[in-house]
Amino acid sequence: MASSTSSGPAIGVLARDASPRLAPRLRPWQQALREAVRDAAELCSLVGIDVAEMGFSPAAARDFPLLAPRGYVARMRYGDPADPLLRQVLPLAAETHYLPGDQQDPVGDRAAELAPGLLHKYEGRVLLVTTGACAIHCRYCFRRHYAYDELPPAAEAWAPALAAIAADESIDEVILSGGDPLTLSDARLAALAEQLAAIPHVRRLRIHSRLPIVLPERVDDELLAWLSGTRLTPVMVVHANHAAELDDEVAAACARLSAAGVVLLNQTVLLRGVNDDAETLAALGRRLIELRVTPYYLHQLDRVAGGAHFEVPAELGLALVEQLRAELPGYLVPRYVQELPGEASKRPLG
Ligand SMILES: *Cc1c(COP(=O)(O)O)cnc(C)c1O
Ligand code: SF4
Repeated sequence: MASSTSSGPAIGVLARDASPRLAPRLRPWQQALREAVRDAAELCSLVGIDVAEMGFSPAAARDFPLLAPRGYVARMRYGDPADPLLRQVLPLAAETHYLPGDQQDPVGDRAAELAPGLLHKYEGRVLLVTTGACAIHCRYCFRRHYAYDELPPAAEAWAPALAAIAADESIDEVILSGGDPLTLSDARLAALAEQLAAIPHVRRLRIHSRLPIVLPERVDDELLAWLSGTRLTPVMVVHANHAAELDDEVAAACARLSAAGVVLLNQTVLLRGVNDDAETLAALGRRLIELRVTPYYLHQLDRVAGGAHFEVPAELGLALVEQLRAELPGYLVPRYVQELPGEASKRPLG
């Protein structure tokens, strides 16, 4: 699912045997991404569990390869096959059991394209799919079947999207999404932010990224320089599903983003065996606000082909959110939503 870029290496598919003499000098986050775990046997041995007992599926891994940064793997509990972080990244045979309601494009992305890679579903904001590459492969991901290969490879190919945004004065917010936009180089992102800032009616730049959580090294001076330098109000929606994902490195990355004036929100996917109990969700909310991150959305899982074993029935989700409401300040209770094709916003459940 990785797509290559014209200005830098295709992160997801970096040659691992490149001669050190010829290798470009990588920033620490690029190095960490290059060294991410890609092999199930290695992952299992790092966390002290038996790969044969885990139900690992080579077929699932061929469909959507295993990818997990080492810093993220280090947060898993050693010797625990039910670890909530491990469960998010290990390809299992259950992924190859498709259910009748599963879809390749469950949220109707194809129908909402305004220009190549530009989705306009909701009033006032558009979502730009900037890349197919991610720093981690989440097994439940609803974008795993998205046709990233058809995305424009080079920066100039964003021109139709930029023109469509410039032509519609109702758009005051642009969301960079993917894949994960922060797998792109800061040179490309800064240039894109500059082009967007040149459109007078665009006021906010929102970035949907899991990198501050799974690869906190990404939040370095080069990223902060363009994020804090744009006239657009920067908003970052990170993606954490469990408090165990939020270690001191992540806290430091969030502190740097906050100090740079970035508004921080979090989205969580409700996942069976990962965070489908009130205590886990409450602990996540409390940890997030320590990091100056406000819980924003709790997503009902989209029915993506291969993700059914992560699904939590909506009735249970509603009961969990009720428990959170009874236990937490209102601002720590995320909005429980589902994305349905053709609706004017994500639909609140309950
Ligand atoms: C989720 C989404 C948004 C953002 O919706 P908010 O409710 O503003 O967070 C915008 N566009 C698309 C296509 C989306 O899927
Ligand atoms: S959930 Fe986000 S980070 Fe994970 S694979 Fe999907 S797009 Fe990438």
